[in-house]
Amino acid sequence: MSTKRILIVEDETAIREMVGFAMRRAGYEFSEAANGQEAQLEVAERLPSVILMDWMLPDVSGIELVRRFKRDELTKSIPIIMLTARADEDDKVHGLDSGADDYLTKPFSPKELVARTRAVLRRIEGDTEEELIQVGELQLNSSSHRVSARSQEINMGPTEFRLLKFFMTHQDRVYSREQLLDHVWGRNTYVEDRTVDVHVLRLRKLLKPHDFHKFIQTIRGSGYRFSAK
Ligand code: CA
Repeated sequence: MSTKRILIVEDETAIREMVGFAMRRAGYEFSEAANGQEAQLEVAERLPSVILMDWMLPDVSGIELVRRFKRDELTKSIPIIMLTARADEDDKVHGLDSGADDYLTKPFSPKELVARTRAVLRRIEGDTEEELIQVGELQLNSSSHRVSARSQEINMGPTEFRLLKFFMTHQDRVYSREQLLDHVWGRNTYVEDRTVDVHVLRLRKLLKPHDFHKFIQTIRGSGYRFSAK
């Protein structure tokens, strides 16, 4: 596992040094930014694993920076912890509203900050574990793009794969052909409703030798439902 790098955005040198020291002791690398402009340059140069963001910065508010990072496709999944001297409940809501993942009020203990940093990192690592989706003995791994039934691999095309993934993560609900087109093919592609039937049929054929084709049920006049029941 590579070393995680924490970006500390804080205009007060003493706090920046204290936080940097705590992060290094915890085994993290860190970089520093004293204002919004430096923060954006740092992020552009190398994406950090976590950003610790002071609320009050000399050039731009920390909240505004959080919004910018969370809007950008490239940076939106980086966890951000807001650091602030404001303790009001309203501000807390505001901070989380902007997209910050956690919130810590000054003065805070470096130990607490390290614990919160570990927690947000664990949360994103937890997300990647969910790449393995399982329904009964049917398994789908979205990072390796593999599907297996009772440990036997099933080869399928990308559309069947996406369709199965959607079904497995949205069980026991009926989806119309239009809804499946939206979710699996995307709103902007032009394909006919019948395309859905073709791919559902293919997917059923692939699952049939393993007896999992029954999971995909046709609901007359409505669409399809995936159910292990
Ligand atoms: Ca400040």
